[in-house]
Amino acid sequence: MSFSSLVSDLTYRDSDRDDRRSQLSRARSYASTAATSVSISGDISSQLHGGYSHPLARSWQAERQLTKSMLIYPLFVSDQPDEEVLIPSLPGQCRRGINRLVPFLEPLIKKGLQSVMLFGVPVAPGVKDALGTAADDPKGPVIQSIKLLRRRFPDLFITTDVCLCEYTSHGHCGILREDGSLNNELSVDRISDVAMAYAYAGAHCVAPSDMNDGRIRAIKLKLIEAGISHKVVLMSYAAKFSGCLYGPFRDAAGSCPSFGDRKCYQLPPGGRGLARRAITRDIQEGADIIMVKPASQYLDIISDAKEIGRDLPVAAYQVSGEFAMIHAGAKAGVFDLKTMAFEATQGILRAGATIVVSYFTPDFLEWLSN
Ligand SMILES: [Zn+2]
Repeated sequence: MSFSSLVSDLTYRDSDRDDRRSQLSRARSYASTAATSVSISGDISSQLHGGYSHPLARSWQAERQLTKSMLIYPLFVSDQPDEEVLIPSLPGQCRRGINRLVPFLEPLIKKGLQSVMLFGVPVAPGVKDALGTAADDPKGPVIQSIKLLRRRFPDLFITTDVCLCEYTSHGHCGILREDGSLNNELSVDRISDVAMAYAYAGAHCVAPSDMNDGRIRAIKLKLIEAGISHKVVLMSYAAKFSGCLYGPFRDAAGSCPSFGDRKCYQLPPGGRGLARRAITRDIQEGADIIMVKPASQYLDIISDAKEIGRDLPVAAYQVSGEFAMIHAGAKAGVFDLKTMAFEATQGILRAGATIVVSYFTPDFLEWLSN
């Protein structure tokens, strides 16, 4: 019963009194007493609004808040030094040559950018081959960018995606057998060599995204043997799902497979148990950070990763398709871009991630400054 109906009910029910003013006053007194006794008798938990009545109190309701230090910004670096090309399916994002990196990053670093993730994009004809030789070319865009950024921005944390698909003629994430399937052993050898080349060049973090079995262990062992495991973070794309959310990325990186798909090494979208096994395995193999990719469609997996790896940081990659969808929805008038970008990211943090790889990073740096 609402307060007003309680008042009128008590007012008119008590009709044996003549004085109307005294009736009303008594009714108010009854109502007040009744409401108090309801609260005291154990119904206090129904009263929540006070706890988030103020904007600051609302922010306190979140277990963790998005901060600039949680953000990693993915960068596509091509082998055309002066290139700066907009990627049509990835709104506002460009593929850049190495000569464009410093001027682009300078203002972002002033705004608080702390970490980038490098993806190499070989554009020159004839660069790709069956082994992805260009991946660890010392003159290639990734190794050159690591060295340049370390020199120019000593405080910038440099993460490198480690995979072969941008560099292989077939576009798959490893070395293939004759039947077109991945040769896991050769692929792990090659992927771990590429990771080492990036680590030697000065990357703070190597992040293998290829999904070959056993590559975390192989990279960790090589880092230990080389005596540099104490200064390189190993971030595993542990739960990377196959699906249709990578389209804009493949446009950007030119990494679409020339035949078949990646369903035999990336995880099937329904495979929650498989993801848990992959996360458990990669932690045991020496991963320092566990990543889930994509993010918003896999919040349960992020939550699982946080539960399985409760003592590790969990990263989530808000992939190109998620970013493009939010832009498309905002452009169509479905919602406001900034509000949705924050809401999607809050979901990712709520699920358990404390690192977010996101194309919204430049926007967040701006929004979080204001
Ligand atoms: Zn790949």
